[in-house]
Parts: sequence; structure tokens; C-alpha cells
Amino acid sequence: MKKRLSIPEYTNGIVTGNRMILSRAITLIESNLEEDKQLAQAVLESILPYTGKSIRIGITGVPGVGKSTFIETFGKYLTSQNKKIAVLAIDPSSQLTKGSILGDKTRMEELAHEPLAYIRPSPTGASLGGVTHKTRETMLLCEAAGFEVIIIETVGVGQSETYVHGMVDFFLLLMLAGAGDELQGIKKGIMEMADLIAITKADSGNEHQANLAKNEYESALHTFPPNGTGWFPQVLTCSATEKVGIAEIWEMVEKHREMLSKNGKFVENRQKQNLVWMHDFIRQSLEQNFYTNHNVSSVINDIQESVSQSKKMPIQAALELLEIFYNNK
Ligand code: GDP
Repeated sequence: MKKRLSIPEYTNGIVTGNRMILSRAITLIESNLEEDKQLAQAVLESILPYTGKSIRIGITGVPGVGKSTFIETFGKYLTSQNKKIAVLAIDPSSQLTKGSILGDKTRMEELAHEPLAYIRPSPTGASLGGVTHKTRETMLLCEAAGFEVIIIETVGVGQSETYVHGMVDFFLLLMLAGAGDELQGIKKGIMEMADLIAITKADSGNEHQANLAKNEYESALHTFPPNGTGWFPQVLTCSATEKVGIAEIWEMVEKHREMLSKNGKFVENRQKQNLVWMHDFIRQSLEQNFYTNHNVSSVINDIQESVSQSKKMPIQAALELLEIFYNNK
């Protein structure tokens, strides 16, 4: 890694919108070296007063639904309105297989060339929890660098959406028309988190299908319990390639912000998210300490073996391991 900068060099660089320093600070956050971690925390602390002013939007949907095309068009619409936008990604596949559903460099090529846009691929090499934590911190750096809209993209197939939902103000679910009742592998739980469902690819003769899907999802949303914010989730159709329905989606984001700012839920949501973040971090740190503890790791394989062969009860084994951990910290 290049020579590290001092804390004021990082801070001043970030808050004056220096892209190169922002990227270096993000790399610092993504580093797993102990001295980098400490410096990263100090940088974060110093930029904290400059954070919190953006609109944070989570976008999810199954592979092929049109996420990158949508974000490209939506992002360019926002930059045409003179808004600075940052796009971050959480890609569970890059942790599991080292392959990547979202990290492909050719994605959002046009948006990447917009001077008002900043795109950062998903960090790799950590657990999903670890990646999520780093994405949260990256989001704060981008806010301090003056980005007004932060988009966090993820694939709608697993746990990552729950994490993304826990760090954004507005959650947008992209869906295909004509996928029927099975909801395209999108779990009901993900639909329940959505503030807006946008039916993609409403073009080239597909408009009618898209409208039918819109009606279906509107009915489905009525069967869900209220989300506690006073906002009722909406459904819209759009075409990213034809640039139709894009401004309407942004209007919805603004309407949502206006409503939740008035009723106090906007701030309340962020406060809750901060607490969740703290507890997530505690859980992750404890877990990591446990599994990297030398005394634990030297016996865990044998104990696992006994449990899987039903020679030991799972709880008894867990208590034994915890005792080893606490006695040898
Ligand atoms: P992702 O995997 O969710 O990121 O999906 P992509 O953005 O890569 O899009 C998947 C495919 O759908 C590509 O072939 C796109 O060209 C196509 N696609 C995306 N958006 C639209 C759209 O608005 N209209 C049409 N007709 N095709 C689209």
C-alpha cells in the first residue's frame, strides 16, 4: 500500500471533495491490517461532523432485473439535476465464491464517466457482516465528501438486503413483469421492506404486462402489515433504456423524505440504525475473537466431530468452547 496520509490530510482531502483521497480513505477502511484499522477509525471520527446529509437509497432485485441499467439511467438523471451521487455495492457472491455478480467493471460505464458521480465496487475478502460494516463506513466518507445521494446496490437473493435495508432511508425493490406468484425468488420479507417497488423494462410492448404486474403488487402490498413509518409502499413502472418513469421514482424518494421528515420518522430511523450498527459490530467482533482464539481453534475440530456424531450435545459443546474461550482470553 502507498504511504499512509496523516489524519488531517485524509480529512481535509475528503471534505474538500478530493476523489483520490476519498478512494484512498476507502481503501484504508477496507484494509484488515491492525494499524490501518486504527487510522481508519480516527479518520472516521474526524469526518463524522460532515456526515448524515445525504439521501441513502438501497436498490435490490434479482440478477437480470435491470439494476445496473436502472442505476445508470437514474444516476444520470440525478447528475443532470446537478446532484452528486455515489454508488456502492454489497455483493454477497464476491465473498462466497470470489466471483462477483455486481463487481463487473463494465457496468455503469457511462455513469462512471460523469464528473458528479462516484462508483465504488463491493469490498471483498470479508464475511458479509464485515463487508456491510465497511460499506456503512464508506457511505459516511462519501457523505463527508459532499455526495448528496448515496445508492447502495445489492442482489435480492439473500441476507444482504436486510443489511442494506438497515443502512438506508429508502428501499427500492426492482421487479420484472410477468413473473407470476412465485415472486421471482424474491422473498416476501424483502417485499415487506420496500418503500417502492418499480417494475422494470416497461417498454417495447411490455407496457401492458408491466401495468398488470403493478396492479398485482399493489394488491399484494395491501396484505402486508404497516411498516410503522406512516408511509405506504408504492408501485411504479419504468424503463431504464427508454428513460421512462425515472423522474417519477426520484419524486417518490423526495415525497417519502418529506413525509418522514415531518412526522419525525426519518431521524428516528437513522437513530435506530446507528444502534443496530453498534450491536452488529459488537456481535461480529465477539464472534471473530472467539473463532480466532488460539485455544478455541485448537480444539474446535474435535468438538465439532463429537457433535456431528451425536457423542456430545450441541449446547454442552458450545458451553465447553465458551469456557475455553473465557478462561484463555
Ligand atoms: P442486473 O443484473 O440486475 O444488473 O441487470 P442489467 O442491468 O445487467 O440488465 C439485464 C438485462 O436487461 C440487460 O440485457 C439489459 O440490457 C436489459 N435491460 C435493463 N433495463 C432494461 C429496460 O429498461 N428495458 C429493456 N427492454 N431491457 C432492459
